Amino acid sequence: MPYAKVPELKMPLPGPKAKAAIAADHEYISTSYTRGYPFVMARGSGLAAEDIDGNVFLDLTAGIAVNATGHAHPRIVEAVRRAAEQFMHMSGTDFYYPVQAELAKMLAARTQGGPRRVFFANSGAEANECAMKLARWYTKRPYLISFRGSFHGRTFGAMSLGCSKAIHRNHYAPLVPSVLHANYPYAFRAAPHLDTPEKVGLDALDYIENTILKREVQAEEVAGIFVEPIQGEGGYVVPPDNFLPGLRKLCDKHGILLIFDEVQSGMGRTGKFWAHEHWGVQADIITSAKGIASGLPLGAVIARKEIMTWPPGSHASTFGGNPVACAAAVETLKLLDEGLIQNAADVGKHLLEKLKALAATSNHIGEVRGKGLMVGVEIVKSKAGKEKDGELRNLVEDTAFHRGMLILGCGENTIRFCPSLTISKAEAEKGVELFALALQDAAKKLGR
Ligand code: PLP
Repeated sequence: MPYAKVPELKMPLPGPKAKAAIAADHEYISTSYTRGYPFVMARGSGLAAEDIDGNVFLDLTAGIAVNATGHAHPRIVEAVRRAAEQFMHMSGTDFYYPVQAELAKMLAARTQGGPRRVFFANSGAEANECAMKLARWYTKRPYLISFRGSFHGRTFGAMSLGCSKAIHRNHYAPLVPSVLHANYPYAFRAAPHLDTPEKVGLDALDYIENTILKREVQAEEVAGIFVEPIQGEGGYVVPPDNFLPGLRKLCDKHGILLIFDEVQSGMGRTGKFWAHEHWGVQADIITSAKGIASGLPLGAVIARKEIMTWPPGSHASTFGGNPVACAAAVETLKLLDEGLIQNAADVGKHLLEKLKALAATSNHIGEVRGKGLMVGVEIVKSKAGKEKDGELRNLVEDTAFHRGMLILGCGENTIRFCPSLTISKAEAEKGVELFALALQDAAKKLGR
């Protein structure tokens, strides 16, 4: 049911039911989670998220960039209900059911660069595990390259690719060997002599070609390069325009597979179906999850057809490609086609403009960047010094919550805006207004 008023706070936060739920959580749930503020979800509709005390929030997180179609979209709810009434599981590994191939065909049709095959997993990490294995299996080469600042998931392979926060790896070594890390081009924080985005992009490419492939490993030993077309957990970093085309050329030259991790950036979020389309490049392998099924767990690996020819038994999953999740994904893709990708482009542009206008008036915003509805705001101590201000960023998140808005951070000092693709211009404007107030309150509290 849509809400008449969003946000609507009815009591000081957290309310009594939220307090009790959090106490139970703290008693029984793993201590490894990273909850920033005490939001306890009860139900939602579109961009409105209601907590268990009846407070209604404007949700600009989409559950970490997952609820592509908003909370409880009636068509997704109906698709899930219909599928669940038929059967909830049969394992696509050992049996057939048509919705898997239907969804795979839809994903292949939306991916440029020739025929594709799809493997279904349950999450982004699992999709990346599959892509790691496939790249090694196809090329018969052992090494993989990924980027500093990247995040690919929590399983051992995906964690070994990732390189965004040391806590993700602390005490888990030994990790999967033969993974090398290159520098992701991050123009806002590049060395002073790299004073144009082009130079930043070329420098990142040069490091791979002339340092990694000369000093650390020979190109003939490298199976694949994993890259996020826009770096997500690392801080919503948009690469310079020459970077992905340059990477494509480098991979072609050396017979290395180019693997785009589109787990966060894909499914229309950036205003194109896949984010890498912004740069006119094509992937050998794409990994996807998050928004693909509007919140049901599903991952997908979309590979060039000639790459995904591994023999029966070489990779599989009991739950991957669950029929209910696939049905939700089919309906999600239809909704994306019917206008949500265009909406992400249009409202995303509006959101970016509004945030840039705010940045012009604030000494605490170092940079606003993004594409479509994948927008990052980097929080700094001062515009001139660009010093990262993670403390202020964290307090902005908390203060926004107390003003009725859910937002999340990423990287050391960035706030990300990754709302559902159904967001209206009015909701985006409300979000910027609440963010501006939260930033003002938080800066004042810290004496910035
Ligand atoms: N890849 C990227 C780019 C991500 O942003 C994430 C999650 O944030 C993952 C992979 C891991 O996905 P999951 O948490 O579904 O395993």
